[in-house]
Amino acid sequence: MSYRKNEAIPIKPEPDLPIVDCHCHFPDKEPYRKPTHSYESQYEFFFEKHNGQFIISSSSYYDYEYIQNYTESHEKIYLTVGCLKPSDRYGMDVVMKEHPHFMDIVENKTDTYVGIGEFGLDFHHAKTLSIRQEQIEYFQKVIQETKHLNKPYVLHVRNATQRDIDQKNPNHEFNQRDFCNKTIVRIFEEEGIKPEKVMWHCFSGPQDWGPKLAKMGYYISVPSSAYGFNRWRRNIRGVPLDKLLTETDSCFQHPFKMGGFNTPANVKYATAAIAYVNDMEQQEVAEKVLENARKFFGIS
Ligand SMILES: [Zn+2]
Repeated sequence: MSYRKNEAIPIKPEPDLPIVDCHCHFPDKEPYRKPTHSYESQYEFFFEKHNGQFIISSSSYYDYEYIQNYTESHEKIYLTVGCLKPSDRYGMDVVMKEHPHFMDIVENKTDTYVGIGEFGLDFHHAKTLSIRQEQIEYFQKVIQETKHLNKPYVLHVRNATQRDIDQKNPNHEFNQRDFCNKTIVRIFEEEGIKPEKVMWHCFSGPQDWGPKLAKMGYYISVPSSAYGFNRWRRNIRGVPLDKLLTETDSCFQHPFKMGGFNTPANVKYATAAIAYVNDMEQQEVAEKVLENARKFFGIS
């Protein structure tokens, strides 16, 4: 198996597989990338060509209503409800203004959604000590206030890389390459959240953490870009199939084009990547991942 950088794998995704996109942004209220086809035609294409499901995530109160209306008026798609996190872009004041709305939805509309998220820790978009600290505190607060709902969590986790080092505090532990992972595991343990209730969306490593998290019982979600980019593919190594999920994170994470517009039907590329890494049949991977997803989100 070759692990050269950004090398697409030498197999094609098979047609007619049962597929599941466990995390996408669809339709996007303000698309970050210009859609190549209307959302309606992307939706139709998915269900005409594939037997499967997709799960749409909101990431703030701002896009919730728009997405909720869409999922309510379309069959076979599901919603997870996310919230903002403090970052270089949104201060704690903005996050706390949204917080009551977010809590109102998750508390009072429990039958309209299948999971909480995306939300989590992102030290690429939070580069100072105080904002990182606020992110951690807010993360724990959300867990404390939502755990009684017993819903699965969809996590967004981005550890600091070399480029994200807090220049004023270069030796602080927040700069460690797995600090966010460690902190999240600690908080879930403190709050008594079972790892089986947690999915790490677009799992970005470090590489040794894939098998480690799976062993604890967490689910690892593989993006479609694992097809064309080794940095996503290598994180799957050593993770057993019963702990894997697939996603597109549409419009992001195009299977092989840097910056290309992505669509839920491309989740079949994640299936192909898993099959390639584990030397398995795509059909077998697809069936098992769909079963994992239905179990995780409690959908039929
Ligand atoms: Zn996302």
